[in-house]
Amino acid sequence: MKVNQAEFIISAVSPEQYPNTGFPEIALAGRSNVGKSSFINKMVNRKKLARTSSKPGKTQTLNYYLIENQFYFVDVPGYGYAKVSKTERAKWGEMLETYFTQRETLTLALSVVDFRHPPTQDDIQMYEFFKYYQIPVLVVATKADKIPKSKWNKHESITKKTLDFDKEDQFVIFSAETGEGIDEAWKVIESFL
Ligand code: GDP
Repeated sequence: MKVNQAEFIISAVSPEQYPNTGFPEIALAGRSNVGKSSFINKMVNRKKLARTSSKPGKTQTLNYYLIENQFYFVDVPGYGYAKVSKTERAKWGEMLETYFTQRETLTLALSVVDFRHPPTQDDIQMYEFFKYYQIPVLVVATKADKIPKSKWNKHESITKKTLDFDKEDQFVIFSAETGEGIDEAWKVIESFL
Protein backbone atom coordinates (compact mmCIF):
# COMPACT_ATOMS: atom_id res chain seq x y z
CA MET A 1 0.00 0.00 0.00
CA LYS A 2 1.27 3.40 -0.91
CA VAL A 3 0.09 5.63 1.91
CA ASN A 4 -0.86 9.21 1.11
CA GLN A 5 -3.04 9.87 4.08
CA ALA A 6 -2.21 9.11 7.69
CA GLU A 7 -3.42 11.02 10.71
CA PHE A 8 -3.35 10.72 14.45
CA ILE A 9 -6.91 10.45 15.73
CA ILE A 10 -6.91 10.01 19.49
CA SER A 11 -5.10 8.73 22.56
CA ALA A 12 -8.03 6.84 23.99
CA VAL A 13 -8.17 6.31 27.72
CA SER A 14 -11.48 4.47 27.84
CA PRO A 15 -13.56 2.44 25.35
CA GLU A 16 -16.09 5.27 24.95
CA GLN A 17 -13.34 7.18 23.19
CA TYR A 18 -12.56 4.49 20.65
CA PRO A 19 -13.63 5.60 17.16
CA ASN A 20 -17.02 4.37 16.02
CA THR A 21 -16.48 4.45 12.26
CA GLY A 22 -16.35 0.66 12.08
CA PHE A 23 -13.07 0.65 10.14
CA PRO A 24 -10.84 -2.39 10.70
CA GLU A 25 -8.13 -2.12 13.34
CA ILE A 26 -4.61 -3.48 13.20
CA ALA A 27 -3.24 -3.43 16.76
CA LEU A 28 0.43 -3.38 17.69
CA ALA A 29 1.61 -5.02 20.87
CA GLY A 30 5.14 -5.30 22.16
CA ARG A 31 7.58 -4.28 24.84
CA SER A 32 8.29 -0.59 25.40
CA ASN A 33 11.05 0.53 23.06
CA VAL A 34 10.81 -2.51 20.84
CA GLY A 35 10.03 -0.27 17.85
CA LYS A 36 6.23 -0.05 17.52
CA SER A 37 6.17 3.68 16.76
CA SER A 38 9.05 3.33 14.34
CA PHE A 39 7.18 0.53 12.58
CA ILE A 40 4.10 2.70 12.09
CA ASN A 41 6.14 5.67 10.87
CA LYS A 42 8.09 3.54 8.41
CA MET A 43 4.98 1.82 7.07
CA VAL A 44 3.23 5.10 6.35
CA ASN A 45 6.43 6.85 5.28
CA ARG A 46 6.16 9.64 7.83
CA LYS A 47 8.97 10.54 10.19
CA LYS A 48 6.98 11.61 13.19
CA LEU A 49 3.39 10.45 12.96
CA ALA A 50 3.79 8.14 15.93
CA ARG A 51 5.94 9.31 18.79
CA THR A 52 9.12 7.31 19.01
CA SER A 53 9.64 7.31 22.71
CA SER A 54 7.41 5.84 25.32
CA LYS A 55 6.10 8.19 27.92
CA PRO A 56 5.51 6.64 31.33
CA GLY A 57 2.38 8.74 31.89
CA LYS A 58 0.88 7.42 28.68
CA THR A 59 0.89 3.79 29.64
CA GLN A 60 -2.90 3.56 29.73
CA THR A 61 -3.79 4.93 26.33
CA LEU A 62 -4.48 3.35 22.98
CA ASN A 63 -3.21 5.55 20.19
CA TYR A 64 -5.32 5.51 17.03
CA TYR A 65 -3.91 6.39 13.61
CA LEU A 66 -6.25 6.51 10.64
CA ILE A 67 -4.63 5.28 7.43
CA GLU A 68 -5.99 6.11 3.97
CA ASN A 69 -9.40 6.68 5.52
CA GLN A 70 -9.64 2.89 5.46
CA PHE A 71 -8.28 1.34 8.64
CA TYR A 72 -6.55 2.16 11.94
CA PHE A 73 -3.18 1.28 13.33
CA VAL A 74 -3.75 1.05 17.07
CA ASP A 75 -0.60 1.47 19.13
CA VAL A 76 -1.13 -0.43 22.35
CA PRO A 77 0.90 0.66 25.39
CA GLY A 78 4.08 -1.37 25.67
CA TYR A 79 4.60 -3.95 28.36
CA GLY A 80 7.71 -4.59 30.38
CA TYR A 81 7.89 -1.05 31.60
CA ALA A 82 9.92 -1.39 34.80
CA LYS A 83 8.87 1.83 36.52
CA VAL A 84 5.18 1.11 36.49
CA SER A 85 3.48 0.40 39.83
CA LYS A 86 1.53 -2.79 40.52
CA THR A 87 -1.77 -0.92 40.41
CA GLU A 88 -0.89 0.66 37.10
CA ARG A 89 0.19 -2.65 35.69
CA ALA A 90 -3.09 -4.24 36.74
CA LYS A 91 -5.05 -1.42 35.10
CA TRP A 92 -2.97 -1.80 31.96
CA GLY A 93 -3.69 -5.54 31.89
CA GLU A 94 -7.40 -4.92 32.25
CA MET A 95 -7.41 -2.40 29.44
CA LEU A 96 -5.58 -4.75 27.10
CA GLU A 97 -7.83 -7.64 27.94
CA THR A 98 -10.94 -5.58 27.35
CA TYR A 99 -9.64 -4.26 24.06
CA PHE A 100 -8.38 -7.54 22.66
CA THR A 101 -11.32 -9.65 23.77
CA GLN A 102 -14.16 -7.25 22.99
CA ARG A 103 -13.16 -5.04 20.11
CA GLU A 104 -15.16 -6.33 17.18
CA THR A 105 -13.33 -4.30 14.56
CA LEU A 106 -9.93 -5.75 15.55
CA THR A 107 -8.82 -7.83 12.57
CA LEU A 108 -5.14 -8.55 13.18
CA ALA A 109 -2.66 -8.24 16.02
CA LEU A 110 0.93 -7.35 15.27
CA SER A 111 3.23 -8.86 17.85
CA VAL A 112 6.37 -6.75 17.62
CA VAL A 113 9.50 -8.47 18.94
CA ASP A 114 13.20 -7.64 18.94
CA PHE A 115 14.82 -9.85 16.29
CA ARG A 116 18.17 -9.71 18.06
CA HIS A 117 17.07 -11.61 21.14
CA PRO A 118 14.77 -14.53 21.90
CA PRO A 119 11.26 -13.32 22.79
CA THR A 120 10.88 -12.45 26.47
CA GLN A 121 8.46 -14.00 28.93
CA ASP A 122 6.14 -11.04 28.31
CA ASP A 123 6.32 -11.57 24.54
CA ILE A 124 5.46 -15.24 24.99
CA GLN A 125 2.53 -14.45 27.28
CA MET A 126 1.14 -11.90 24.86
CA TYR A 127 1.40 -14.32 21.96
CA GLU A 128 -0.25 -17.08 23.99
CA PHE A 129 -3.04 -14.67 24.86
CA PHE A 130 -3.66 -13.97 21.16
CA LYS A 131 -3.68 -17.69 20.44
CA TYR A 132 -6.11 -18.37 23.27
CA TYR A 133 -8.56 -15.79 21.94
CA GLN A 134 -8.02 -16.93 18.35
CA ILE A 135 -6.79 -13.55 17.19
CA PRO A 136 -4.71 -13.81 14.00
CA VAL A 137 -1.15 -12.59 14.50
CA LEU A 138 1.59 -11.14 12.37
CA VAL A 139 4.87 -11.39 14.25
CA VAL A 140 7.07 -8.44 13.30
CA ALA A 141 10.68 -9.22 14.13
CA THR A 142 12.20 -5.77 14.11
CA LYS A 143 15.66 -4.16 14.33
CA ALA A 144 16.87 -6.73 11.78
CA ASP A 145 19.51 -4.22 10.61
CA LYS A 146 21.32 -4.90 13.87
CA ILE A 147 22.19 -8.46 12.96
CA PRO A 148 23.97 -9.75 9.87
CA LYS A 149 21.78 -11.34 7.22
CA SER A 150 23.73 -14.58 7.53
CA LYS A 151 22.22 -15.00 10.99
CA TRP A 152 18.60 -14.21 10.10
CA ASN A 153 17.60 -17.85 9.58
CA LYS A 154 18.95 -18.83 12.95
CA HIS A 155 17.24 -15.91 14.68
CA GLU A 156 13.97 -16.67 12.93
CA SER A 157 14.08 -20.29 14.15
CA ILE A 158 14.85 -19.24 17.71
CA THR A 159 12.09 -16.62 17.70
CA LYS A 160 9.51 -19.03 16.34
CA LYS A 161 10.55 -21.84 18.65
CA THR A 162 10.48 -19.62 21.74
CA LEU A 163 7.00 -18.37 20.88
CA ASP A 164 5.74 -21.80 19.92
CA PHE A 165 4.78 -20.07 16.69
CA ASP A 166 1.58 -21.22 15.03
CA LYS A 167 2.08 -21.97 11.31
CA GLU A 168 -1.26 -20.33 10.57
CA ASP A 169 0.21 -17.01 11.66
CA GLN A 170 2.48 -14.71 9.67
CA PHE A 171 6.08 -13.72 10.29
CA VAL A 172 7.96 -10.76 8.84
CA ILE A 173 11.56 -9.71 9.37
CA PHE A 174 11.56 -5.92 9.62
CA SER A 175 13.82 -2.90 9.96
CA ALA A 176 12.65 0.68 10.39
CA GLU A 177 16.21 1.63 9.58
CA THR A 178 16.56 -0.02 6.15
CA GLY A 179 12.92 -0.56 5.22
CA GLU A 180 13.37 -4.31 5.15
CA GLY A 181 10.01 -6.09 5.28
CA ILE A 182 7.76 -3.15 4.40
CA ASP A 183 6.24 -4.74 1.30
CA GLU A 184 5.82 -8.08 2.98
CA ALA A 185 4.16 -6.52 6.02
CA TRP A 186 1.78 -4.55 3.80
CA LYS A 187 0.88 -7.70 1.89
CA VAL A 188 -0.14 -9.43 5.11
CA ILE A 189 -1.99 -6.39 6.51
CA GLU A 190 -3.87 -5.80 3.26
CA SER A 191 -5.06 -9.40 3.26
CA PHE A 192 -6.86 -8.60 6.55
CA LEU A 193 -8.60 -5.42 5.40
P1 GDP B 1 8.18 1.84 20.92
O1 GDP B 1 8.33 2.21 22.36
O2 GDP B 1 7.86 0.38 20.77
O3 GDP B 1 7.23 2.71 20.16
O4 GDP B 1 9.64 1.99 20.26
P2 GDP B 1 10.23 3.16 19.33
O5 GDP B 1 9.65 3.08 17.95
O6 GDP B 1 10.09 4.44 20.05
O7 GDP B 1 11.77 2.71 19.20
C1 GDP B 1 12.62 2.63 20.33
C2 GDP B 1 14.05 2.87 19.89
O8 GDP B 1 14.49 1.84 18.99
C3 GDP B 1 14.26 4.19 19.13
O9 GDP B 1 15.48 4.74 19.53
C4 GDP B 1 14.29 3.78 17.67
O10 GDP B 1 15.04 4.65 16.86
C5 GDP B 1 14.93 2.40 17.75
N1 GDP B 1 14.46 1.52 16.64
C6 GDP B 1 13.18 1.19 16.36
N2 GDP B 1 13.13 0.38 15.30
C7 GDP B 1 14.39 0.17 14.88
C8 GDP B 1 15.01 -0.60 13.82
O11 GDP B 1 14.36 -1.27 13.01
N3 GDP B 1 16.38 -0.57 13.74
C9 GDP B 1 17.14 0.15 14.61
N4 GDP B 1 18.47 0.09 14.45
N5 GDP B 1 16.61 0.89 15.61
C10 GDP B 1 15.26 0.90 15.75
